[in-house]
Amino acid sequence: MTEPLAFRGTDEAEAHALDANDPLATYRDRFHIPLQENAQQEARPVHYFCGNSLGLQPTAVRGYVEQELDDWRDLAVHAHFKGKTPWYSYHEVFEESGARLVGAKPGEVVMMNSLTVNLHLLMVSFYRPTADRYKILIENAAFPSDNYAVRSQIAFHGNDPADGVLIARPREGCRTIETDDILEIIETQGHEIALVMLGGVSYFTGQFFDLAKITAAAKAKGCAVGFDLAHAAGNLPLKLHEWGADFAAWCSYKYLNAGPGGIAGCFVHEDHASRVDLPRFAGWWGNDPSQRFKMHLMEDFVPHRVAEGWQLSNPSILSMAPLRASLDMFEEVGMDRLREKSLRLTGYLEHLLNAHGGSYEIITPLNAAERGCQLSIRITERAREVVDTLDQRGCVCDFREPDIMRVAPVPLYNSYYDVWVLASILGAHS
Ligand SMILES: *Cc1c(COP(=O)(O)O)cnc(C)c1O
Repeated sequence: MTEPLAFRGTDEAEAHALDANDPLATYRDRFHIPLQENAQQEARPVHYFCGNSLGLQPTAVRGYVEQELDDWRDLAVHAHFKGKTPWYSYHEVFEESGARLVGAKPGEVVMMNSLTVNLHLLMVSFYRPTADRYKILIENAAFPSDNYAVRSQIAFHGNDPADGVLIARPREGCRTIETDDILEIIETQGHEIALVMLGGVSYFTGQFFDLAKITAAAKAKGCAVGFDLAHAAGNLPLKLHEWGADFAAWCSYKYLNAGPGGIAGCFVHEDHASRVDLPRFAGWWGNDPSQRFKMHLMEDFVPHRVAEGWQLSNPSILSMAPLRASLDMFEEVGMDRLREKSLRLTGYLEHLLNAHGGSYEIITPLNAAERGCQLSIRITERAREVVDTLDQRGCVCDFREPDIMRVAPVPLYNSYYDVWVLASILGAHS
């Protein structure tokens, strides 16, 4: 990461040379890449830039899922304890890998439910409004689900969401939010803020917030801090434990490639994970596992004193199986090496876009420390036309009306050549 990112020019040969020297290039072969629809001769893979929305399918997924189908077929109820990976404790396979992924300690992470459900469950425990401290700080252009979740929590506690939500906004004429402005809100209004809940990486602008500084400032003011890491988990190295966030949640179908609606993740800091005094919505899977099957013989809920204590139901095995296939690769590569390639790959895209110059403007921070792999690009002329051309040329990108294209070169499976193709098409459009 210390090596400067020097790219020469815009020629295709350089893209191929970068691929040839890429130490992670072989991981691309461990994903299914859809084929272009209108390829003239031989079938060609698409240039996929939507890993921020739905990650590609790892080739190993089918084997993991089939194993569970086989265990269900052959063992039925006995698979809970006698399956290849017993279902009773299946979620425990993520104890180490899940923790490493977000910079947590084993016991602080559990995979369960889906993202918005987890946000709600965690807010039950960590959004504890009082008469003079009831506000929730979120970021401008937050993902709709987060916005709805936060507002409904405020209303649930009997307050008016219009008054209860505080929004950190970009400065006049800017697209992204200054960390200093977030810190300033916390400094001046922190005494009214019950919870700071930001997206780690903005789904829209791709901005990565300074979570360490924000957490420290919020904690100093006595606010609870939680993060939605939907666009950060598997995208950037995170240090949730060290930063001291109270909780976090993320989905696993974006950068974590666990398939549509895949099981989500949840972090509860060690300081809280073992607390039994926190209010929570309880279910049998959050109970101490040694007593879980005592069923009706045990009337009182005894929370498992780790993040798993926030589980409600027995989790979907068929939804956990694909995540294993993906996390195997994250374990092999490690977030640091992945980030190293990501900085180069996204840096290359930025370099090419600047070198070509065209009717577009990058709205994601240009400082690589303030972004993950995604670049959000505003198309300033005939946006629809360029989106159609990209589509015809086999580039899968995301377009948000009226003019924002979100492009995520994913270091596990995108090539420098993918990036080169995209940039040449954009560069030719002016
Ligand atoms: C993708 C995403 C969601 C989606 O929520 P689900 O509960 O998984 O449907 C929510 N919040 C953010 C920030 C996202 O990026």
